[in-house]
Amino acid sequence: MKLKIAVLPGDGVGPEVTHEAVRVLRTVSEVNGYDFQFREYPVGGAAVVADGHPLPQSTLEGCLASDAVLLGAVGGPQFDQLPVVLRPEAGLLKLRKALGAFANLRPAIVYDAVAHCSPLRPEVLRGTNILFVRELLGGLYFGEPRGRDENGGAYDTMRYSPAEIERVAKIAFEQARHRRKQVTSVDKANVLECSRLWRQTVSEVARDYPDVKLEHTYVDSFAMQMIATPSRYDVVVTENLFGDVLSDESAVLSGSLGMLGSASIGGAVGLYEPVHGSAPDIAGQNMANPVGAIASAAMLLRFTAGLHRDADDVQTAIARVLQKGIVTADLRPQQKAASTSEAGKEIERTLADLLGQRQAYHAV
Ligand code: NAD
Repeated sequence: MKLKIAVLPGDGVGPEVTHEAVRVLRTVSEVNGYDFQFREYPVGGAAVVADGHPLPQSTLEGCLASDAVLLGAVGGPQFDQLPVVLRPEAGLLKLRKALGAFANLRPAIVYDAVAHCSPLRPEVLRGTNILFVRELLGGLYFGEPRGRDENGGAYDTMRYSPAEIERVAKIAFEQARHRRKQVTSVDKANVLECSRLWRQTVSEVARDYPDVKLEHTYVDSFAMQMIATPSRYDVVVTENLFGDVLSDESAVLSGSLGMLGSASIGGAVGLYEPVHGSAPDIAGQNMANPVGAIASAAMLLRFTAGLHRDADDVQTAIARVLQKGIVTADLRPQQKAASTSEAGKEIERTLADLLGQRQAYHAV
């Protein structure tokens, strides 16, 4: 298995957590005898400093020539005064668009060992494992026309074509087939025309997946149910704006923003990045939680390389290390916590054992 991976560490804690994610991918490659090649490129504020642009042409070309992109995070207060086109976030948005990824996948997994870190009761959270599939290139964020009118008002346009809904719905059903075979489609079909089209199109796609159960739910009701009974959901598919809000709300289930990974797929090259930002308040202190970045690396193995068993092993390694109580300060503010590199190394060691055991099993 040969894989070219573009590594974009970015700003703040980005380089720290990306280092740990690359460490894990190297271990998967070395123990299994794969050929993963890593090439680093600047992005965000670091790229503005080095090249005068948050997404230099060489970075974009490097990403498009790779099989997958692993990104840390971009941004920071020192870049807030830059013109909008030079802001670190502008580079990230341009990259996402250039890669053409229309489906953003964000798992919200509750690990028993750290369930008490969420403000929700552990018995409510137990068994929660939701996969959000958010449409990423349509809806209100991209619809035209948009702007200000002559009366001082402002307007945006929510627009979806059946093809845009169909392609993201298919990804949700495909994912559900490998999970608990349940799709919850979230819309506002009692009010919005786009949502009525969404509901109709998702129902049509569902006919090709008779083994997967589909339910439709309104976004306001779902926002409440997700907190009240999170463990009943499997795959949740929704449009851009609803997905943005709901997937951030789901961070509360996992106990810390630092736990969440993501994959943006469907385009030429998959983009894998933790959900969190550059966390300037803790940058450079070796205290960021690397789990979100490592979980993103596991998604890279799963979605770009189809290495499901290796991806499962990475997830198992994360769970075992959390179980041992080796957690960073965001999950243990009052007591001695592990550093970013201690947590990362422990996950890597545990993973190496798991991969080694699997090899030994197949060798006999
Ligand atoms: P943030 O996600 O960087 O931080 C929010 C809070 O979560 C902070 O208290 C931070 O310390 C904590 N946190 C975040 N990641 C953590 C980790 N891995 N381990 C432990 N704690 C962690 O969001 P913010 O403070 O609103 O934004 C900071 C900068 O990041 C801004 O410039 C923003 O534009 C940028 N940002 C970038 C991305 C991205 O690159 N995808 C996403 C969000 C924000």
